[in-house]
Parts: sequence; C-alpha cells; structure tokens
Amino acid sequence: MKITSIETIPLRIPFKDPFTMAAPFEKSRNLIETLIVKIHTDEGIYGLGETQAWRRQGSSEVLFNLIRIMKDIFEPLLVGKSPFDINEIMHVLSAAVYNSLYAQAAIGDALYDLQGKYLNKPVCELIGGKVRDKIQVGICVPIFPDHQIMLDKAQAFYESGYRYIRIKIGVHPEEDVRNVEAFRNHFGDKIVLRADANAALEFTDALRLLKKLEPYDFDMCEQLIPPWNLEGMADLCRHTSIPLSADESVSTAHSLLDVIRHRSASIVQTKTGKNGGIYYSKQLWEICKAAGIQIFPGNHPTTSIGCAAVTHLAASWAGPMMVGDYQNALDGVLVDDIVREPLKIVDGHVYLPKGPGLGMDLDDDKIKRFLVDE
Ligand SMILES: [Mg+2]
Repeated sequence: MKITSIETIPLRIPFKDPFTMAAPFEKSRNLIETLIVKIHTDEGIYGLGETQAWRRQGSSEVLFNLIRIMKDIFEPLLVGKSPFDINEIMHVLSAAVYNSLYAQAAIGDALYDLQGKYLNKPVCELIGGKVRDKIQVGICVPIFPDHQIMLDKAQAFYESGYRYIRIKIGVHPEEDVRNVEAFRNHFGDKIVLRADANAALEFTDALRLLKKLEPYDFDMCEQLIPPWNLEGMADLCRHTSIPLSADESVSTAHSLLDVIRHRSASIVQTKTGKNGGIYYSKQLWEICKAAGIQIFPGNHPTTSIGCAAVTHLAASWAGPMMVGDYQNALDGVLVDDIVREPLKIVDGHVYLPKGPGLGMDLDDDKIKRFLVDE
C-alpha cells in the first residue's frame, strides 16, 4: 500500500454558546477552526486525521498555514511511502518543518487509521493492545457572565453522569472564588473539582488565588501562569497543597523534560494537536510515567475524529491515568459533529468506537455545511 495524495478539509464549526476562557487574546470564541486530513492510497482506502487552528501553543495554527504545510511540504514527502513506515515519516516531517506538531498530528493519526483499516484492526491494537472498552471522562465548564449559568450547565452535566468538573478561571480572580464557592455549596463532595486558568495570571495573583481556592478541595489546577515561567510554576507547586498541572508549557518531549527538571507541575495535560497526535502523545505519556507525573488526557475542542484518537490512546494505556476531559465539544457544546456515527458518551464515559482504524467515517452532508474556502 502506497500513499498517493493528501486531501485537506478545513471546517469552521460553531459553538452553541460562546466558549470563554482566560486566553490572552480573543477570550470568547464562537467557533472552532479544525482541519480534517484524508490520506489516500493506491489500495483505494484512506486514513482520517484531525488537527486544529487553535492559535495558542506557538505553531502555525491558522487553517491556511496548516493546509499549505500539508499540501506544499508534507504531501511530496509522503507520496509513494507506505503508511506503515510511521517512524520514518514522522522523523522526516519534523525535519522538514520545525515545530509543526499541529500539522504532524493529523498526518500521524491518519497513518494509524490507514494501518488499522488495512489490517481490519482498531488503532488501539496497533499501539499496544486494548486495556479497556470505555474511559471515564470529566467535563469542562467555560466562563459565563453569571455564575448561575455555570452552575446550571454543571448541573445538567452532573445529571448526565459526569462527576469530574473542570471550570475555567483566570479572567476575574474574585469571581473565580465566588464561582468555586457556589459550586462546592451546590454539589458538596459529589463532584471532583478542577480548574484551568489558561496561563492568564501573574505569579503573585496566581499564588493569592491558589490560597483562596485551597479550602475547596481541588484535585488539579491547570496552567496558572505563562508557559515559559517554569521556575514560577515550580514555586507555586511548593507553596500550595493543590496539585498543579502544565498544559500550554508542554508541546515536545523536550518541553516536557524542562517541566520535569524544574518540577513545575505534578500533572501534564496532553492534546492531540498540541502534542503531535497519538504518535508523540504516547511518547509523552511514557516519559510522564517514568517521571511520576500524572497524565491528564485532554484535547482542544474537536470533532469525533480528534476525540477518537485520544480514546484509542487511553484505551490502550495500562499505566496510571487521571480522569481527563477531551470530549467536551461533543457533548452539547458544538452545534454538530461531522461523522456518520459520533463517539458514544454515556454516563460520563467515552466508549471505544467499533470498526477498524479510528472507527470514524465522514458524513459528507455535514462536511458541506461547515466546509470553508481556504
Ligand atoms: Mg488548559
């Protein structure tokens, strides 16, 4: 089986409600920009992968750039190669475009999808075997102007089976404390609470906020301060009882090693786009395990294709793993999905998709609805 071409399918899919977080630019987003990649072969089968133009972690993350990298640089390097030569292909792509993990993510995941379709096996069986059929997940509640709206959203998620709730913080620390107090008063100890500040705070503000959050029993607080401030993150770890997580700080294995050396976090969140798909995320998970860092399976908001990639990785992972959240967008957050059979989420668990490869197939009518000209 040889690769013949790469097809790029750029999509803009609206959120139902504005997705607000403490990002330094464009705090509220109305849609996701996501890129579906189809790798075609001379066997007539194709592989699917997904990446996002999220514009946060320092890569060329706008749809136009991602498409040009795929078509102008990656496609000529891939044509004629076997999808099973993933080690060589990923090495060549890294050498061709520095810091292109977002683009590589869709290629690597599509190669696994192709391998699985060719062998009639799910991806999890290609990366070590199936350990579980379903994965418990939590849910993320973004910031809303009124904390009653956040509580109502969380209550609806609770009623559908979620027990791990991660709230966005970091825009107004006083409101964060009020929101957290309201959550604890409402749910008591029926939920596990975690928070994500999206790197928005300065060190002193982060330390003050952590001290105020300590009485509310968090199992994780994510990326309070800018990703480059590894010493500051380590200082925060030493000064709080809340376990701290690194997200924006970790892209490559080298950046993960920096976090470990500085002891900047005890938890790391991975995402398929940010960390280069299944191929590189699995390497990060191995390093985390060796370093005693807790693994939080995460993702940007994606369609079922990007979520399926994380599901296969988590389904094949035998080591310790936190209850993450990577399926947020699928559970009533985006207006629609773009696959024929979306990932099944029941009672706060994501089920491993059936079928070979990632187990996903595109719904062409829905693709047409969200397709953009880039
Ligand atoms: Mg985060």
